[in-house]
Amino acid sequence: MRMPRGRLSRWLRVVFESMPPHRVQCPLCCSRLRGFRNFGQPPRPGALCPRCGAVERHRFLWLYLQRLPQDAASIDLLHFAPEPCLSGRLAALHGDRYHSVDLGSIAAQSRQDITRLALRDAVFDRIICSHVLEHVPDDQAALRELFRVLRPGGMALVQVPVAGDGRRTDEDPELIDPDERLRRFGQHDHVRLYGLDLRERFADTGFRVAVESCRSLWSNEEIRRYSLLPAGSTDDFLFVGHKPA
Ligand SMILES: [Zn+2]
Repeated sequence: MRMPRGRLSRWLRVVFESMPPHRVQCPLCCSRLRGFRNFGQPPRPGALCPRCGAVERHRFLWLYLQRLPQDAASIDLLHFAPEPCLSGRLAALHGDRYHSVDLGSIAAQSRQDITRLALRDAVFDRIICSHVLEHVPDDQAALRELFRVLRPGGMALVQVPVAGDGRRTDEDPELIDPDERLRRFGQHDHVRLYGLDLRERFADTGFRVAVESCRSLWSNEEIRRYSLLPAGSTDDFLFVGHKPA
């Protein structure tokens, strides 16, 4: 039995108006959703985009990249530990100027140790290194390598989990027990929990450093809409290291 057209349109309007509004938006895949999914250990509410897999730090980084001069096709980009939600998009933008590396993952174009890169000096304009340094015992060697492979005037964008309470970096090279690392550093394979003094390690390497935060870059409404800082997130900061020209 077919429903008369007038009744059908009224019924559709009632259904449409009873649906919850799209409350969040993913800047990577442009999805408008009623909410992001819980994700992480312990679960962070509203962290994960179910369409592209982006979590809050990916959305933060992507939005920050949109603020930079957009001439991607002429920018040599080095991407460490390439996240699937970012790598395809960045590769499409940068073309053959995009290069990804990882210590072990076959998702990257080459396997390399961040503390001993088999790359020439001064060949990249931009580096993305998100949630890598907290796994690297000699993070200062890694920062020296980032500095070395950047061209003068180049920029390294680094994200790490940061204790949000003003503490300095907590690390202990002797601590290898996974359960104790989880308790003290937040994950079983993290070798430290950074404080904002990471800025000083950056600067010791020769970088000029700016520490950007979600709260200083975007309004409360934008932070809510893009779900940049769900409860429990430790990703409010982006360390931007400039290699002097
Ligand atoms: Zn998405």
